[in-house]
Amino acid sequence: MAEQDVPFRDKKIETASREELEKVQLAGLKKQVENGLKTPFYRDRLIKAGITSPDAITKVSDIRLLPFTTKNDLREAYPFGLLAVPKEEVVRIHASSGTTGTPTVIYLTQNDLNLASDTMARSLTAAGGTRSDIIQNMMTYGLFTGGLCFHYGAELMGAMVIPTSAGNTIRQLKFMKDFGTTIIHATPSYLLHLHAAIESAGYSFEDLKLRKAITGAEPHSEELRCKIQDKLGIEVYNCYGMSEMNGPGLAFECIYRAGMHVWEDRYIMEIVNPETLEPVPDGETGELILTILCRDAMPLIRYRTRDLTRIIPGTCECGRTHRRIARFTGRTDDMLIINGVNVFPSQIEEVLLRTHGVGASYFITVEKKGVLDKMTVQVEITPEMFADDARVIHALKDRLCQEMAALITIRPTIIIKQPGSIPISEGKAKRVEDLRNLP
Ligand code: ADP
Ligand code: ZN
Repeated sequence: MAEQDVPFRDKKIETASREELEKVQLAGLKKQVENGLKTPFYRDRLIKAGITSPDAITKVSDIRLLPFTTKNDLREAYPFGLLAVPKEEVVRIHASSGTTGTPTVIYLTQNDLNLASDTMARSLTAAGGTRSDIIQNMMTYGLFTGGLCFHYGAELMGAMVIPTSAGNTIRQLKFMKDFGTTIIHATPSYLLHLHAAIESAGYSFEDLKLRKAITGAEPHSEELRCKIQDKLGIEVYNCYGMSEMNGPGLAFECIYRAGMHVWEDRYIMEIVNPETLEPVPDGETGELILTILCRDAMPLIRYRTRDLTRIIPGTCECGRTHRRIARFTGRTDDMLIINGVNVFPSQIEEVLLRTHGVGASYFITVEKKGVLDKMTVQVEITPEMFADDARVIHALKDRLCQEMAALITIRPTIIIKQPGSIPISEGKAKRVEDLRNLP
């Protein structure tokens, strides 16, 4: 493709020199520190780190003077501990998917939302989306950013958006066919499912105008991308995001699909060794640390995403100067992503611990059943419960399943085990086995 055909939303900033980008980053970082000092949460931490004013930051690398922030910190700051503007200025909140208990919430002003939409519109444009596209968003609407934040970005780009949300495949297909959907946004697992659904619904691929899919929210391999591309005959783009960073589109593939550009005028990225928290050399894998620069209502400084990736060295053929990151190879914590929903083993444990008749040991297995993930929880019961009637044990099983479903939004299969039958591992307990090879 000739260089003039590469689509840009804002060519000037997307191709800015490193020097120009760093100038924007420095101003943004100072602003975040200034905002941080206005929040109960960061004020103490920044002052403890010796930062009492944004003037302490004179270059981008001074970011290393600032403390890291974790997901648990965000829970601690719930509900408004990270608010840096008067409450009346907040126009929307979002929260991380699947995690209940204390959720991690973000708040946005109207200007923050405009910038989030602009980032998403920029990403979609980079992937070749235009105002003539008809974009069907098959991600869940609600607190999850993959719904609304993607939606507003696609609208801002000028596309026609069909907010079908997730599920109801028959209706999805009907809309795709009747309205001539050209781009869809869905999880990789759903895209695989869609192929089979199109065939079993008796539609032919010629009935559809589909040309691209945007996918993300869960790890997937290059092989899976190729498989979906081959089966559906479309281009598939990888999109990275998380609610803490305003949702999808913080990193996105351009038409060359050779790694995801991180929008560095809006986010500062660092890649560190997760043990030492020291930066790793460019090209080496480590934990991605992000600082958001495009949000006033809620600063988030040096956020530990727990996602493992590396910077792809060299420049992209598209001419963008914003550096690219590779597909994620895993996480540094025990969070599982099951059919797109984030699940922590501690949430399962929480249900077991509060249930009478349940013993101390449990074991979680996650595997692939067809294109979907399936979670099984083996649970040891107490000797008293084991001696009880089969009906009582059956009721316990149902109750555990329901309570877990209420907490994590997916229904695991529960297998009741007799006391002492789950082996106790020596040293650190291994309670999870993930049998899914990345598809
Ligand atoms: P989501 O519901 O989209 O997963 P959350 O904010 O709840 O949003 O979770 C964000 C996490 O999802 C990320 O930290 C990462 O682990 C995972 N994720 C999001 N996009 C991708 C992607 N393209 N590839 C791999 N993992 C992803
Ligand atoms: Zn590119």
